[in-house]
Amino acid sequence: MTGPRAVDVLVIGAGPAGATTAALVARAGFRVLVLEKAEFPRFHVGESLLPAGVRVHERIGLRPRADVFLYKGGAEFVRESPSRRRTFRFAEALPGSPRHAFHVDRAEFDAMVRDRAVAAGAEVRHGVTVTEVDVDADLARVRTSAGTETARFVVDATGQDRLLARRLDAVRPYASFGKVAVFTRFEGLSDAAWDEFGPENDIRIVMRDDGWGWMIPLAGRRLSVGMVTRGRATPASLDDGILSGELARRLTAGATRRDTGVLRNFSYRNARPAGARFATVGDAAGFLDPIFSSGITLAMVGAEGLADRLVDALAAGTEADPDLLAPHLAGMDRGYRTFAALIDRFYNTRFAESVFFAESDDLALRPGVMSVLAGDVWRADNPFQDLLLRARRRAGNGAA
Ligand SMILES: Cc1cc2nc3c(=O)[nH]c(=O)nc-3n(C[C@H](O)[C@H](O)[C@H](O)COP(=O)(O)OP(=O)(O)OC[C@H]3O[C@@H](n4cnc5c(N)ncnc54)[C@H](O)[C@@H]3O)c2cc1C
Repeated sequence: MTGPRAVDVLVIGAGPAGATTAALVARAGFRVLVLEKAEFPRFHVGESLLPAGVRVHERIGLRPRADVFLYKGGAEFVRESPSRRRTFRFAEALPGSPRHAFHVDRAEFDAMVRDRAVAAGAEVRHGVTVTEVDVDADLARVRTSAGTETARFVVDATGQDRLLARRLDAVRPYASFGKVAVFTRFEGLSDAAWDEFGPENDIRIVMRDDGWGWMIPLAGRRLSVGMVTRGRATPASLDDGILSGELARRLTAGATRRDTGVLRNFSYRNARPAGARFATVGDAAGFLDPIFSSGITLAMVGAEGLADRLVDALAAGTEADPDLLAPHLAGMDRGYRTFAALIDRFYNTRFAESVFFAESDDLALRPGVMSVLAGDVWRADNPFQDLLLRARRRAGNGAA
């Protein structure tokens, strides 16, 4: 029996995964409480979205705001020495794949998604840190910095904090993916730099011997620059690495540089993503690698699938079923496995050279490559995705 104070769903973390879950469950008429340790807006790395997530934005009523969202038409892969550039546009994807995405200011974007949860009727409390989760036959009990809450179901959306994965000893690192990211932001880009991005605003992915780097244009003439390596890196690695290249020097000339951040050991799989009365979503369920910008899209598509399943279970009173989410997890697994296979090839084979810098422009698999890069990884008619999944190698964490 649930007590009088028990909510239907308690969501830990108000990032894109938690807020999307909360918006969709609350909209269906259930009582949802979101506990978020930070005050919003708060800085978050990860600004480039994929087209497959835009449908979820529309479903939760998120409208692009010009000061937060910048149209993204595709990606340009760049090698500076010897010089090579190849552009891949989402418009070239297989028929039916969504055609564009956005780059976003994450602090504002996350606050806007949180606002959709509030508008749907969820209660969001900031400044509350969850410390423990206990689940028994009747209820989930959540201990926080502000007392104890009870719920019929708990969703862990704590991002890289991975609250439940750590508690359940379920963190399985991807040994062969990126290890360290160093990043910064520039403001006040010159006319020449802004014009170079043009209306498509393609993300620049710069291939280097010491790893790879990103350059993401942001609304308001800003530029996010970062690099990911598999070795050691410090803030100085950014200056000695991607920022020392000709492209970065040109795009950032005259702009003002902001703080530099460093993140490590972000790539992992959660071996216990769900159970009786609990589920994980977004980075709390696992995070692959920043290359190919799949994080937020997998987080929001995953949140949508979780919420839909949960709404049915809450209505039927079956939310304590430990296998409740098995079909949802199997569906998400296809998306994670596809990107994991692509990322494994990117780091550990000559895939990037042979596909992204192929001499011939009429690469037969190009529409299929673009559908995967768009995040449209749940369709069944993509020969490139079939190749990836059939021939996948081990990613170094027990997950193939
Ligand atoms: C270097 C790097 C670059 C990236 N670039 C991209 C990119 O370009 N595109 C992309 O799509 N993805 C990118 N990502 C990944 C992307 O940022 C994440 O996938 C995304 O933030 C996942 O959303 P989330 O809601 O799961 O987690 P988060 O956005 O991290 O939200 C989790 C929330 O939970 C809160 N929280 C944590 N613990 C607790 C607690 N105990 N109690 C209460 N609240 C808590 C946190 O304060 C936070 O607000 C990148 C990641 C890295 C490491």
